[in-house]
Amino acid sequence: MNVMTETRTAALDHVADFPAIPAGWAYLDTAATAQKPQMVIDAITRGYDDSYATVHRGVYQRSADMTLAYEAARRKVASFLGAGSADEIVFVRGATEGINLVAHSWAGTQLKAGDRILLSQLEHHSNIVPWQMVAERVGAQIDVLPLTPDHRIDLDAMAAMITPQHKLVALAHVSNVLGSVLDGKRAAEIAHSVRAKILLDGCQSVPRMTVDVAALDCDFYVFSAHKLYGPTGIGVLWARPELLEAMPPYQGGGSMIDSVSFERTTYAPPPGRFEAGTPHIVGALGLHAAIDYVESIGLDRIHAHETALVTMTREALSQINSLTLFGPEDSAGIVSFSIQGVHPHDIGTILDEAKVAVRAGHHCAQPLMASLGVDATARASFGVYNTAADVEALVRGIERVTRIFG
Ligand code: PMP
Repeated sequence: MNVMTETRTAALDHVADFPAIPAGWAYLDTAATAQKPQMVIDAITRGYDDSYATVHRGVYQRSADMTLAYEAARRKVASFLGAGSADEIVFVRGATEGINLVAHSWAGTQLKAGDRILLSQLEHHSNIVPWQMVAERVGAQIDVLPLTPDHRIDLDAMAAMITPQHKLVALAHVSNVLGSVLDGKRAAEIAHSVRAKILLDGCQSVPRMTVDVAALDCDFYVFSAHKLYGPTGIGVLWARPELLEAMPPYQGGGSMIDSVSFERTTYAPPPGRFEAGTPHIVGALGLHAAIDYVESIGLDRIHAHETALVTMTREALSQINSLTLFGPEDSAGIVSFSIQGVHPHDIGTILDEAKVAVRAGHHCAQPLMASLGVDATARASFGVYNTAADVEALVRGIERVTRIFG
């Protein structure tokens, strides 16, 4: 089977880098959160060990060194994303906070009654609810892009639906349920044709493919470190510098100010303006190590590896009559499916007995579930540590599910 040959050609085997993955356990839930390589764990341990101190405040050497390390992480993220400067990188708690920040500080001040926001049917709740909250506040309306028959965001429909009333488009660069990859550059061109801004949710793309915000020509980009083999509690908002410059702060507190008096407070320039309070210092060091880790392998190789595993999985699962596969053939690293007459939670439980960890549920995408006509799906998602043996374990486990349920 040439799929196997392809798999072998692109094969990566990095499981030994991951101390939390015991032999014989197929961890197929990377779209929820990635396991951590030793390099990242070491960076976090070192950060809390003899180099620990606060940033931006201390006059002592340790704090100055930690500030340099924290700001080096910001520069690393900037080069990783193809940003023009480190000042365009705002550290946030995760993609969710990044989107809420843009909804509050950009949409909350730029949108007015009658304006429209364009989302898609496959968005994660994080890329729906913050826009609903701001739309309700300012009196804007939300429109929803449909999917193509093979479950991609329909960009022809976008070109037909978009109007000058649309001020913001927010789309997943890669779907967390279907793995569909958006043509982000075309989506940006369509958005810009009516002078709308476009935010891309990069949670599932950043761990799986090379991302360059300049080439995409988008306006905002967000991702979470924990899906990129980094720590939880830290993520990134990138925005065009002129947008950040014009945005008011999201939260008030220490670090985000220029000067404070009871009469008048002035704010620091971006990105500090958006980083109130003591930041997740060690999280930034962990994120830096995570980027070093994926770069040491190469995002193009990671993409090819995961694509080969997806192809292999889809080929094997398409042989099972009672099983429905969702998403396009070329989905990135993620395969969602359902089995007739079997609740996805039962699939997940039986697979767990076979030492295969998958996610079962609505994946924080209830509107997508409704459009697929299901309450939930089972989802296998891949990372650098997965191999053809994990796919085989998954397929054997699913065959057992179908035997148990007749
Ligand atoms: N968007 C997508 C596409 C996601 O997969 C996720 C995480 N499942 C999020 C947004 C939210 O990320 P977080 O919970 O890390 O903020």
